[in-house]
Amino acid sequence: MISYKAAVKIISENTFILKNPELKKVTDSLGYVTSEDIKSGTDLPPFDQSNVDGYAVTNSVIGQWRIIREIRAGDHPDFRLKKGEAVRVFTGAELPAGTYSVLMQENVSTESDKLNCHAEKIVKGKFIRKKGIQIKKGTPAIRRGTLINPAVIGFLFSMGIKFVKVYRKPVLSLIVTGDELLEAGAELKEGKVYESNSGLLRGLARYNGFEIRYTAAARDRKSDLKSKVKTLLKKSDILLISGGVSVGKYDYVNEVLNELNVSKLFYKVSQKPGKPLYFGKKSNTSVFGLPGNPASAFTCFYLYVLPVLKKMSGHKKFLPVWKKLPVAKEIRKDFNLSWFLRAKYSDNNVMPLDAQASFMLRTLTEANCFIHMPLNKNKISKGEFADVCIF
Ligand code: AMP
Ligand code: MG
Repeated sequence: MISYKAAVKIISENTFILKNPELKKVTDSLGYVTSEDIKSGTDLPPFDQSNVDGYAVTNSVIGQWRIIREIRAGDHPDFRLKKGEAVRVFTGAELPAGTYSVLMQENVSTESDKLNCHAEKIVKGKFIRKKGIQIKKGTPAIRRGTLINPAVIGFLFSMGIKFVKVYRKPVLSLIVTGDELLEAGAELKEGKVYESNSGLLRGLARYNGFEIRYTAAARDRKSDLKSKVKTLLKKSDILLISGGVSVGKYDYVNEVLNELNVSKLFYKVSQKPGKPLYFGKKSNTSVFGLPGNPASAFTCFYLYVLPVLKKMSGHKKFLPVWKKLPVAKEIRKDFNLSWFLRAKYSDNNVMPLDAQASFMLRTLTEANCFIHMPLNKNKISKGEFADVCIF
């Protein structure tokens, strides 16, 4: 059995960004990470642009111009303003050569083609978005390793970019084991329970921008489990097996993985919930044996699997987010394991929820964080700061 910290370290040391980046449509690139620097193919703005609705004017001391025409957003003025001339312009319109300043329409008065402005002084370059002020053509606009969020997509579009090279997201697969499990919707039979981990894990993956590509259900029979693991090992970057990883007579995960030449990197972490966690690798495929108890599966996914999904996809920040908060009530434990308590944090404190047993999902539906109570601690007093892992 190893510590939580040691488990994180082993996983991290054995996890790498996936090879063979792919070309994605920018529209489909949300949540991916750029695998190369992206240079702008254009100046932004591509030309000197008006920043307001108003008038583009030449330099004039007397504050009077003759309005010669109108330029709308999208027009291209192919002339030069001469001394004493002005043009009516709108936000985003290209400014003609010779523009000295733009006046806001609120600050001027007009009389037929006469434009008057009584400002003390006309400020050079005012309300002009200079060509290339945001980004110059050929310079890096987005760095390699950038997580593509909606703003990045918008920015790429604004540079006219339609395709982007990104790191691949891992092919994630799940095998659910357990003869007692029935699918929701089926009639509940005696001795059986409804299967919940597939929905839980799929939701966790999806919520964080990943998908479970292949799923299978295996009986608590070695041959069945083995054939399913064998198939999915070949297709997956990450294979999750739910249940069957403990020490019961019908828990075959360890044995099957061993027979299929998966190298075991650790088995069992001194934590609760989630003690019988298995982690191994076969060539580039990572394998997690997740304990079947739903809260254990959740905890292990959150602390260990999600960082692997993120790191393989090129995320720079792949570890969970932690912060320190005072606990709202005393917590005691009488066992020698790291404890991850389902809890609810607010602005000023964190409240451990009741019903912490690992088979219970109910409290998890209300939780928005874990409180981590380290192995060697058996009490956290009310008001004492604790490490909190934010979902
Ligand atoms: P196991 O890890 O296979 O020993 O299972 C531990 C507990 O979790 C048992 O009570 C199982 O019935 C339950 N369990 C295992 N897998 C699932 C699942 N996919 N959905 C709901 N409960 C499960
Ligand atoms: Mg089982």
